[in-house]
Amino acid sequence: MWDAVIVGAGVCGAAAARALSRYRLRVAVLEKGSDVCAGASRGNSAMVHGGFDPEPGSLKARFNVAGNRMFDALCQELAVPFQRSGTMILAVSEADMEEVRRLHERGNQNGVPTQVLDRAALLERWPAMGEGAVGALFCPSGGIVCPYTLVIAMCENAARNGVEFFLNTEADSIVPMEGGWRLTAGDGRVFETRLILNCAGTHADRLNNQVSTDTFRIIPRFGAHLIMDREYIKWVDTTITQTPAALPTGGHTKGMGIMPSVDGTVILGCDAVDYTDPDDAATTARSIDAIVDYFKVFWKYLPISAVYPSFPVEGVINAYGGLRPHPDRDDYIIGEAPGAPGFLNAAGIESPGLTAGPAIGEHLARLVVEKLSPAEKENYRPGREVLKPFREMSEEERTEAIRQNPDYAKIVCRCEQVTEAEIRDAIRRPVGARSVGAVKMRTRAGMGRCQGGFCQSRVVEILCEELGCSPLEVTQSGSDSYILLGEACSHRFEEAQA
Ligand SMILES: Cc1cc2nc3c(=O)[nH]c(=O)nc-3n(C[C@H](O)[C@H](O)[C@H](O)COP(=O)(O)OP(=O)(O)OC[C@H]3O[C@@H](n4cnc5c(N)ncnc54)[C@H](O)[C@@H]3O)c2cc1C
Repeated sequence: MWDAVIVGAGVCGAAAARALSRYRLRVAVLEKGSDVCAGASRGNSAMVHGGFDPEPGSLKARFNVAGNRMFDALCQELAVPFQRSGTMILAVSEADMEEVRRLHERGNQNGVPTQVLDRAALLERWPAMGEGAVGALFCPSGGIVCPYTLVIAMCENAARNGVEFFLNTEADSIVPMEGGWRLTAGDGRVFETRLILNCAGTHADRLNNQVSTDTFRIIPRFGAHLIMDREYIKWVDTTITQTPAALPTGGHTKGMGIMPSVDGTVILGCDAVDYTDPDDAATTARSIDAIVDYFKVFWKYLPISAVYPSFPVEGVINAYGGLRPHPDRDDYIIGEAPGAPGFLNAAGIESPGLTAGPAIGEHLARLVVEKLSPAEKENYRPGREVLKPFREMSEEERTEAIRQNPDYAKIVCRCEQVTEAEIRDAIRRPVGARSVGAVKMRTRAGMGRCQGGFCQSRVVEILCEELGCSPLEVTQSGSDSYILLGEACSHRFEEAQA
């Protein structure tokens, strides 16, 4: 019997898994995707929110603020790129300035220092700020992180400390049994466990509603982003967003913004549209148009407009989307579900859930420890060994790396300077890459200007060499997303050879 089964390997599930890996417990993580970080934790704005925005006294405020404070130590321990580059809410009208003052007050209530800047103060720090920007709220404790590196790092670390991961495994039905729960996966496998941690994102309602007297609904709330090429990052040194706006169907959106990414690109987004399908995170023309239309107007207020007077659409290299798990109530749903002892929820974790996730995971782990009183492991390892990316190495470091491993001399992704050594390592690591998309998330191969046009076929070959499979079995991101359709060409090639 398992001590705890965690459903979902997003930021909440991964953080809980890592926190529980400190103890002598049998812990399993079930993830329905072909890789960890298959939900909202992958497709978000990558902002580490300060915590001035959520309603004071709410779980959102509590875990946002606590999560934010964890990021320096957490990211250092796990070698995850993170920068406290600050976040700014830009006011372009007197009404916006009212909102800025309201948020400043809220920040005070939540214990999050912010600064109200008038136009003069704004220009002092950002002299190129466009005309029409009347002021701003600046939050120095806001930051940016690579969300999927964070989740992958927590999962790797949990796996190294003994947590078992089951990918392509969807928790389907849950029934109570003597001493715990009997969970059956979509493929019929059964997991008997003392406790269940429901971290299933947009699917958390389906699991909770099977067992709890307190049922709820999760509304998948879609948001899209555009990614701009590295050449624009020089003029984007902090996150700049509009003032938050109420949404007609409940809750509010933090609105559109421009974010530097820790990888050196620039992110634009995002909109907020309610969906019914909990798995449909595909970008749409409508969402992309909404962002482009917004930035055609908002651009003139930004410092970057001093260099690029109008929004350079040609600088966009890709788009992506994500589904916020918006609950049918005003706050996060965290803790033991009423009527279901031993079934713990981290549900409705919409924004700022990436920020709050590490604290939510720690909290769930504490609830587990209170129930099971496990001993701590003596050999728990909090850190993670990672290779320094080749693109960040000095010439001397590169020479030494190639001397130790000649695969460093083989550049596979030219745009992002990713070597064969790094791709093989990504596949061999704990909870390693099994698809082209999983290699991309771990190494950035395929994330550059050409979006994999040059490197994808070589990545497929390396996956085949490492995993001993045929190219026909390799997928972009699991299930039936096969890269190759058939063998027609290779037959002809072999015939020609003969
Ligand atoms: C567009 C957008 C922008 C955002 N921007 C920010 C931001 O800038 N800053 C911030 O702090 N937050 C942001 N958020 C919010 C943040 O991304 C989420 O709150 C957070 O990622 C939720 O994490 P989670 O672990 O609860 O869910 P998820 O990351 O969705 O993880 C749930 C996991 O469970 C798996 N799963 C589901 N059902 C099952 C099942 N039955 N069996 C097995 N596995 C299952 C899924 O495949 C998924 O991997 C944003 C979200 C979106 C969508």
